[in-house]
Order: sequence, then structure tokens, then C-alpha cells
Amino acid sequence: MRPEGQAEKTERPATARVFFGLWPSPELAGQLAAIAEAAAGQFGGRPTRLDTIHLTLAFLGDIPEAQLPTLCDVARRVAFRPFELTLDQVGFWPRPRLLWAGCRASVPALGGLVAELREGIVEAGFSAHDHERTFIPHVTLVRRIPASPAGDIAHRLPPIAPLRWPCQDFVLVRSQLAVTGSRYQTIARFSAPPLGA
Ligand code: ATP
Ligand code: MG
Repeated sequence: MRPEGQAEKTERPATARVFFGLWPSPELAGQLAAIAEAAAGQFGGRPTRLDTIHLTLAFLGDIPEAQLPTLCDVARRVAFRPFELTLDQVGFWPRPRLLWAGCRASVPALGGLVAELREGIVEAGFSAHDHERTFIPHVTLVRRIPASPAGDIAHRLPPIAPLRWPCQDFVLVRSQLAVTGSRYQTIARFSAPPLGA
């Protein structure tokens, strides 16, 4: 028997909530933040802060911190080649009540990057979170839009001038949930291997 007051400590390993994503330049983030602010003004809800605007490639959820180097290895094995996106439409998902910016045209290089990441993540033994779902590239602009009595939001979406997004690299990010919106911290950045590598 254990002496009184010395209850067994169940040491849980430290975990990190992480995802891979594309991060826009400050200029592009500013343009998207302005669209988000305007849309939140029109529809209500919480606009994404400029510094947190991103496009999620693969979400892993909580993983042990000790596994972060393994996850970085997965990303380094991906054959990343720079590509360009054009954000040219705004969409609304009624269930999470979320407004987003996305691409009308499919972007094969982006789809390929996500497929490779998903494969590497599963092969490395991480649990497949959103991996079964079809990937829809989107940048969340406004969250928690209140139900609108004034009709269907989907029919009142603002048009946007096409925004070009040259993607030179992708990042592994840690997310810390907070009531006022998550805080993100970039853990590592991955870019194309040098020519000839
Ligand atoms: P908040 O939850 O406070 O609104 P957030 O959604 O930005 O903020 P996280 O929940 O940590 O913060 O999510 C980080 C990123 O991963 C976001 O782009 C989010 O849309 C995406 N994400 C979160 N959960 C999932 C999931 N189950 N499947 C796919 N993507 C997810
Ligand atoms: Mg979330």
C-alpha cells in the first residue's frame, strides 16, 4: 500500500495541438483581414485576426510533444514545389456558420501536397483526423456567424477581386485554444529542396 498523501501521480505526456498550413504574406493577410472585417460587419460573427489568417493543409489535433520531430520528418520528405493559388470566391458553410475564401479552379499542386502530407502522416503512425474528407482549400474569414433572419447568407456573399497567393513554403503550427480566438506558433517551415538536391 502507498503511504497516505502519496497518491500515484499519473504523468500525462505533454501534448501539442498542431496542423500543417500555408501562411500568406503580411500584405495578402491584410487584404484577407479587410474582407473578413467587412463581412463580419455585414453578417456578424468573429473575423479572423490578420496574424492568424491561414489555409490548413492537414490537421493533426493533439499529439505528444515528443512526436514533433517525427512530424517534421514527414514534412521534409514531401516533394514540395512552389505553386500559386488564386483566391477568387467567398463561401459559407452553414453548419459551422463559417465564411471562407477559396479558389474556383482546382489547384493540382496543392491537392498533391495535401495528398502527400496525408499519406506521410498516416504512414508515420499519426491518427488520420480529417484525412478521409475531401480537401477543400479554404481560408476561414469569419467564424460563428449568427443565424440571419434576413434570408440566406449564401445568396448575399460578397464578390472578391482575385487575390494571387504565391506559395513558397508551408508550416507546422501549434494552436493554443483561447476564448478570444486561438493563438498560433510556427514550429517549423518547409520549402522546396535546393535545385539539384
Ligand atoms: P477556434 O477553434 O478558436 O475557432 P481555430 O479553429 O483556428 O480557432 P484550431 O481549432 O486549433 O483553431 O484549428 C486550427 C486549424 O485546423 C484551423 O484552420 C481549423 O479550421 C483546422 N481544424 C481544426 N479542427 C479540425 C478538424 N477536426 N478537421 C480539419 N481541420 C480542422
Ligand atoms: Mg477550431
